[in-house]
Amino acid sequence: MSAAYDVVVVGSGPVGTAVARELSDRAPALRVLVLEAGPALGAVPGGHVKNIADADAALAVLPAGAQPPPGATPARPGTALIGTPAMPNAAVSTNVGGMGAHWTAACPRPGDDERPGFLDPGVLDDALTRAEELLSVTTHAFDGAPLRDTVLEVLSEVFDRPGRRPVGPMPVAVAVSGDGDLHWTGPAVIAGDLWERPNVVLRAGTLARRIRLDGDRATGVEVVDVASGARSVVEAGAVVVAADAFRTPQLLWASGIRPRALGRYLNDQPQVMTAALLHATGPVAPAPRPSGQSATAPGGGPIVPLSGVSWVPYAADRPFHGQVMQMDASPVQLDPGVTVRPGQVVGLGWFCRKELSADDRVWFDDADPDAHGMPAIRIDYALTEADQATIAAAVEELRTAAKALGRPLGEPFVLPAGSSLHYQGTTRMGPADDGASVCDPTGRVWGTANVYVGGNNVIPTATACNPTLTAVALGVLTARALVPQEAPE
Ligand code: FAD
Repeated sequence: MSAAYDVVVVGSGPVGTAVARELSDRAPALRVLVLEAGPALGAVPGGHVKNIADADAALAVLPAGAQPPPGATPARPGTALIGTPAMPNAAVSTNVGGMGAHWTAACPRPGDDERPGFLDPGVLDDALTRAEELLSVTTHAFDGAPLRDTVLEVLSEVFDRPGRRPVGPMPVAVAVSGDGDLHWTGPAVIAGDLWERPNVVLRAGTLARRIRLDGDRATGVEVVDVASGARSVVEAGAVVVAADAFRTPQLLWASGIRPRALGRYLNDQPQVMTAALLHATGPVAPAPRPSGQSATAPGGGPIVPLSGVSWVPYAADRPFHGQVMQMDASPVQLDPGVTVRPGQVVGLGWFCRKELSADDRVWFDDADPDAHGMPAIRIDYALTEADQATIAAAVEELRTAAKALGRPLGEPFVLPAGSSLHYQGTTRMGPADDGASVCDPTGRVWGTANVYVGGNNVIPTATACNPTLTAVALGVLTARALVPQEAPE
């Protein structure tokens, strides 16, 4: 045994970091270790790459992913494809901060049947509020952005109905400084001073390969130093695995923790996109700009990749979540002579609710281990007839919305499976140990005394909204279950 900790958290993404932060806030004497397989990007552990001046250099340390399977499109920067044909765009991030160092930071609350019905609504809302604090969520980051109000007006006309949450600015995990700079929330923001605290340790470049068990109780974690291959064991009073929707069940499987639902109910939100060019009139207003990217366009306004994000909320009777991003450059070729004003190009991304099935799953091939002895990740995944109908309805809705906004820039298109990067369900939460869930409402894995899971993978419902806020909220509930009372000062 090399060291002993009260809690070992596996994964330093938004959820692992939030769990560690909430644990340490409530019980500063608790010894907490966060294990992270990947390296730190930039000087601030878990900082968002959009806040790093030379982001390309920071990303250069990341390993390339698998060969793209048929039907895949190139991996998003900071992610690596797993190489699974049934879900060609399935991807992971392996770095301090996880995908949270690369994300778009949209943080809508779940609504209607996206919310797990077995959780007390007040407890869930309280945890969502804490998650919003940790992530620094605001709906004001793009106040005053060019043409934002025009977009909101048109979307309201098309989508607002009695009984539905109204169209509005997207809640985003972004802080705006006094001079208008945008600071994107990476897990570094969730951490605050966490990594300087005396009882908290972040160990990057260290992969958890097995949880050691004595009966139903975890006693430690076998770890590998990724650079040297050296193996050691860390003693643990409890283990929280927040290592994404593929590698959380992988670690459980490798450790012999195999509830019937492990890896099942894999849920990726089918994604449909289109773009439109607003019929823009009026003055060109300056757009907020991300830190470090403040060049001025020849036409006047600053060059920014993004100048407004609007939200068409999910409703049970309209199974899509709409993310509407205003851009300052067109994703498609425009007619020669067309000058795009800041905010004039509108990208519409619809995430669809997917029908849940136990047959959609990630599973692990012990016959094909990697260099660290982790079983290969395989995926079975299929769209049902109901899913195809939902996608067709989303395409129709996007056609209508693009026409209402201005000039459609091409036809809506459906992205390959895995593109949402919102993989859920593979260690789902449930009210009872009935074979259809992996953990209880606190994240504790059924049949274990002290092994917990966190991440989008615990979300049990078929959602369409971006899942990170919900996953962080559920992680807050896990930390509160481990430390029920805040320790007195
Ligand atoms: P992750 O962030 O995936 O972190 C898991 C960590 O665990 C990784 O760092 C990994 O290296 C580590 N790990 C894995 N296995 C091991 C092991 N065995 N030992 C040690 N460490 C291990 N979500 C939203 O809600 N809104 C958005 O707008 C949004 N936009 C996105 C845009 C992009 C480009 C990307 C890439 C993602 C986006 N997402 C978005 C998804 C979001 O980033 C994830 O939902 C979120 O990061 C999940 O947090 P997590 O902590 O559960 O997992």
